[in-house]
Amino acid sequence: MAVPRTYHVVTLGCPKNDVDSEHLERLLSGGELLPVEDPYDADAVIVNTCGFIEQSQEQSYQAVDELARDKRDGQKLIVAGCLTQLYAGELRARAPGVDHVFGVGQWHDVARLLSVDVDAIYDIPESTPHLDGPSAYLKISDGCDAPCTFCVIPKIKGGLRSAPAGMLIKEAQRLSGAGARELVLVAQDTTAWGEDLGQGFAAGLPGLLEMLSEAVGPDVWLRLMYAYPSRVTPELAETMARLPNVLHYLDVPLQHGAHSTLRRMKRPANVERVMKNIETMRDAMPDLVLRTSFITGFPGETEAEFQELMDFATAIRFDHVGVFTYSRQQWTGADDLAGHLPDEVKHARRDRLMELQAGIARERASRFVGHDLEMLVEGAGEDEDGNPVIAGRTYREAPEVDGLVFAAGHAEPGSRVPVRIEASGDYDLFGTVLAQPVR
Ligand code: SF4
Repeated sequence: MAVPRTYHVVTLGCPKNDVDSEHLERLLSGGELLPVEDPYDADAVIVNTCGFIEQSQEQSYQAVDELARDKRDGQKLIVAGCLTQLYAGELRARAPGVDHVFGVGQWHDVARLLSVDVDAIYDIPESTPHLDGPSAYLKISDGCDAPCTFCVIPKIKGGLRSAPAGMLIKEAQRLSGAGARELVLVAQDTTAWGEDLGQGFAAGLPGLLEMLSEAVGPDVWLRLMYAYPSRVTPELAETMARLPNVLHYLDVPLQHGAHSTLRRMKRPANVERVMKNIETMRDAMPDLVLRTSFITGFPGETEAEFQELMDFATAIRFDHVGVFTYSRQQWTGADDLAGHLPDEVKHARRDRLMELQAGIARERASRFVGHDLEMLVEGAGEDEDGNPVIAGRTYREAPEVDGLVFAAGHAEPGSRVPVRIEASGDYDLFGTVLAQPVR
């Protein structure tokens, strides 16, 4: 093929894929390929797919189908990532217009295919990252060693591979140097960071947080996503509480609240201990905002077990909850379990749990009314009467998954301003920009 000059990357799935795509784009830019907005104009279109659950697989198939249909002469369509790691053959059969298929972690091979001399540009951390807003994701590890029976990630991604601390510090400084005011730490399980690097358990994530906090300085927020319940330790709580720029926000996907279901999921099943760990976190940080996710309709889930989950959610009172229906997956332990439930049951239970959580979320949001919070501004505009308003997030809201804050007043996107919260809705907060900094 003629040497490609332009490319377009389509990213599907989670923030970890965003980070991988950015890595690929850095390689391609290092090889002097230029990004273009419209896939039709690109010499090469690369799709970074998601294969996590059936729904996301279908979205990836559809995106590839569409690009294959609209492909122009001479254009190369390359598909990589989680879906193709599992279903390369199926994808080729379904979309014959695809030219090349790669699995996960083969970004250097994709770049080589596009005539990039990867070895010559290997050391590219100095390149300026493209930021879509004031936040950036920092992927601290990939893969996972956990045995969760509903999850196909270890099959797709393999075992835990932590990025070395030195590399993460450099990357954090590169992102903050480019203007990121918030770094969102992601991984399959952020709390497992370092276990494979031979640095004792205690030096793991808390140690990394210390290093990152110092490396980027107090003006850059650090936010922690995807913590594993049994690794939410007192030491982590103490570190988060002490470091000035680590947000008092924790995302701990718990998946269920019934001991017996958690055992079948091969997740930490000691519900009392999970509750104790959460109590420890809340003792260390009384203003802690907690996010979790649950699965309804896991194989064999009885009405009594589902009720236990409802009781658990009621007792803990999470600020934010994502509820997913169980999605059957080949190559997972749960696929072979007895008692797969009809979709109607899974969906009805999800709806009941979401309805319960909506009330809890409303009540949790209302506790911020009357408080002054720092807000990271993401956009500025005018309301219908022509008055200035800004939109953004405080420590309470993670990008893309939680609500937003809207405030009367003006501030530049990317800045951090004090805001008095005056009202709350189901998910969002509303307030006014203050002249004085938050104390
Ligand atoms: S910890 Fe998360 S990524 Fe790892 S197997 Fe369990 S659900 Fe999957």
